[in-house]
Amino acid sequence: MKSRVLAAAGIIAIAAASITGCSSAASSSDSHALTFMFRGNDAEKAAYTAAIKQFEKDNGATVKIIMTTADDYNTKLKAAITGKKVPDVFYVDPGSVQSYVKSGIIRDITKQVEAAPTYDDIWKYGIDSYRYDGKLVGKGAIYAVPKDVGPFSFGYNKTMFEKAGVPLPDKDKPYTWAEFLDVAKKLTQDTNGDGKPDQWGTGLNVTWNLQSFVWSNGGDWVNKDRTKVTVDTPEFTEALQYFADLSAKDGVTPSATEAASLDTYQRWMKGQIGFFPVGPWDVPTYEKLPFQWDLIPYPVGKTGKPATWVGTLGIAVSETAKNPDLATKLALYLSTDKTAQKSLVDAGVQIPNLKSAATTWASSSTLPPANKQEFLKIVEDYGRPLPANSTYSGEWYDEFWKNIQPVLDGKVTAADYVKKEQPAMQKLLDKANQDAKQG
Ligand code: CA
Repeated sequence: MKSRVLAAAGIIAIAAASITGCSSAASSSDSHALTFMFRGNDAEKAAYTAAIKQFEKDNGATVKIIMTTADDYNTKLKAAITGKKVPDVFYVDPGSVQSYVKSGIIRDITKQVEAAPTYDDIWKYGIDSYRYDGKLVGKGAIYAVPKDVGPFSFGYNKTMFEKAGVPLPDKDKPYTWAEFLDVAKKLTQDTNGDGKPDQWGTGLNVTWNLQSFVWSNGGDWVNKDRTKVTVDTPEFTEALQYFADLSAKDGVTPSATEAASLDTYQRWMKGQIGFFPVGPWDVPTYEKLPFQWDLIPYPVGKTGKPATWVGTLGIAVSETAKNPDLATKLALYLSTDKTAQKSLVDAGVQIPNLKSAATTWASSSTLPPANKQEFLKIVEDYGRPLPANSTYSGEWYDEFWKNIQPVLDGKVTAADYVKKEQPAMQKLLDKANQDAKQG
């Protein structure tokens, strides 16, 4: 599941802080020649190739396309930066914005973006993810436009509910944690009578799903200023313990042995899991599932409000672009052009970047999920960036996950774990903030 989410959600774990120095442009002396570097799959390549042809025609430009696999992208981009051959237009992840701005690699494109006719129609989340005011990410000048926004939603196997005679979830009324556990217990069943379960309530990956429980319970990894790690709090501890108990105590997920023989993603696809996360990138695969499914909000903790994260990838313009206006025009075009957007959405790669198109898509497409609106609600209302997206580097956040397995196995309590982790994480966050100052 990790690589599935990483590849699709627009998350690049890159230590960009080490990259320094300005660079000269890769483009030729012809100011209408641009280079665009991106990573993606065949559907994305097809969509962009067609869109770029149109852009070339409309603007008398030539665009050299450099496409890489998801795995190779960071290495190739780093090499391009080191070799002072930064592409004019290229993908950036929000976590790299601070260091790229500080080292003069990406350009402030605020003026052109705000003047674009589509500006008010682009998801605010998609723009805000690339704002930086010199101190905090999320506000200030705009350094990229969204390639996509990827709301990490929650799904359920409707067919399993019906077979088990369990009332279907209400998309407008999230489960409380107690209700969620109760339903998960009802769905965990030995259906063939051999004494071993054949289906389970859920089977969540801690790295990608703990956020929704922590946030919905009023906790977080870091404070608003991104100066203090806040995992050692009652809200956080309670959420982590609840999450761990689902496996270790309540037994509503496959055991470690069962998950090792077939992971929970595969088990969900086989119809053995009741609740499982769903990102837009999963939809083309899930449309072929042999059971009915739909989206619902995540169960809610103390705040009474659901929470989850939204992945995104941005399209930035090089500080050294020879023709920055044309390069910015291309970035905006790729982000918002209706034809390019339509082919990406039709290919099931992403939800539309423009709110108006997203609303039409959610209400008119007849393919599953029926409740596409949940994706939109996440982007507009209850989705957030992953914690490390807004700090200078992410080691402090990575540290949290390194030794978490004993908690999930019920061998270490959540309270003991966060107490031990908080100072270790704080040290790394202090370093990130120090590095940010030095630039
Ligand atoms: Ca059985």
